[in-house]
Amino acid sequence: VTPDERSSLIHALAHEIEARAEELAVLEARNAGKTIGDARGEVGMVVDTFRYYASAPLRPGGETIPVAGGVDMTFREPLGVVGLIVPWNFPLNIASWKLGPSLACGNTVVLKPAELTPLSALRLGELCLEAGIPEGVVNILPGKGSIVGRRLVEHPDVAKIGFTGSTEVGRSVMEGAAGTIKRVTLELGGKSANVIFADADLEKAAAAAPYAVFDNAGQDCCARSRILVESSAYDRFLELLIEATAGVEVGDPADPGTEMGPLISEEHRRKVASFVNGDVAFSGAVPEGGRGFWFPCTLVEASNDDRVAREEVFGPVAAVISFADEAEAVRLANDTPYGLSGSIWTRDGARALRVARAVEAGVLSVNSNSSVRVATPFGGFKQSGFGRELGMQALEGYSETKNVYFSLE
Ligand code: NAD
Ligand code: MN
Repeated sequence: VTPDERSSLIHALAHEIEARAEELAVLEARNAGKTIGDARGEVGMVVDTFRYYASAPLRPGGETIPVAGGVDMTFREPLGVVGLIVPWNFPLNIASWKLGPSLACGNTVVLKPAELTPLSALRLGELCLEAGIPEGVVNILPGKGSIVGRRLVEHPDVAKIGFTGSTEVGRSVMEGAAGTIKRVTLELGGKSANVIFADADLEKAAAAAPYAVFDNAGQDCCARSRILVESSAYDRFLELLIEATAGVEVGDPADPGTEMGPLISEEHRRKVASFVNGDVAFSGAVPEGGRGFWFPCTLVEASNDDRVAREEVFGPVAAVISFADEAEAVRLANDTPYGLSGSIWTRDGARALRVARAVEAGVLSVNSNSSVRVATPFGGFKQSGFGRELGMQALEGYSETKNVYFSLE
């Protein structure tokens, strides 16, 4: 369809979602066991994401480049069929980050939700039809990663895979895509640093830090799960951090006051538990009895070489690590195979920018936990993947550039 029709269809989809925001939030909360407050916020971002990409078809996509004897023109063309493979932690959000730019660029889509969370993706597919997106443009295909996911990765008619998930599966997606030279965008795991300098507003930093790792019960690729603290402020900060962590409201995800719900599965809880064996500085309370794969907010004093500081826990467990000076802070922050996000807390503006430039990660924030905004590029360095989602940069991953030379002779 024409760019303006595409724009109207994406707007219509945003409208369908907004009109059913509460229904979708309840569904997503049940789908992933997440808190209703978080689910409402996520559905709001899904609406914003589609609205943002609805403008994209109307933006100029190419260039004209004067050359000897004529002019070159570049066109942004759709890739064709794109396969979108998404995880269970933010099922609707991550689907929208990929679906928005895919549709804006004129592709058709096969979206495979994670095994544990197919519900909101199926509902999203229905809403695409209600918005008037032609049948067959958006296909929702639940199934096992090792079967359905793998088939998409290897399928000769699929032009691109947009993948979000673990670094381990990302590696196999990259390898499987090689057979057909498929394009890939990989948003993978993280082990991000929250760097607290002694000159920071320690109260503010400590109040924010728990939410940078315990939000979504720690099942967040951007979790700042290594809290690096300058040694001169370490004792004071740890005291404030424990106090703030004890204040995280853990409980029924359906209760709007709840800040942290249970983990996704029993199997995942077992994995998270395997990380807690060091110097536990704090372990919070969880609801007694009832259902839910509860795990307490946990702070472990660690060295950066400990397993809890090396591997992605993907649960409510933070490693607290001390550093001597700025150089050591940067060295520790970068001493990880990952490079997704991170935060820097200091009142020294020049230092904040120096450290932000030195940290090898795609998404950093100063005196804040924030990672994800619709209009700004999101993605990783190193083994956190490559390619960028969100922002207008995402369009590069869902289109092909064609150059046409036009002779003026
Ligand atoms: P996962 O890698 O186990 O699964 C992700 C998706 O890949 C699922 O849909 C799964 O079915 C599918 N899959 C599994 N095996 C496959 C295969 N062989 N071929 C093709 N597809 C396959 O990840 P998860 O457990 O669902 O989610 C947690 C992980 O996702 C964490 O590592 C987290 O850091 C990462 N994540 C990254 C981001 C990011 O933007 N960087 C965002 C959210 C989550
Ligand atoms: Mn998994």
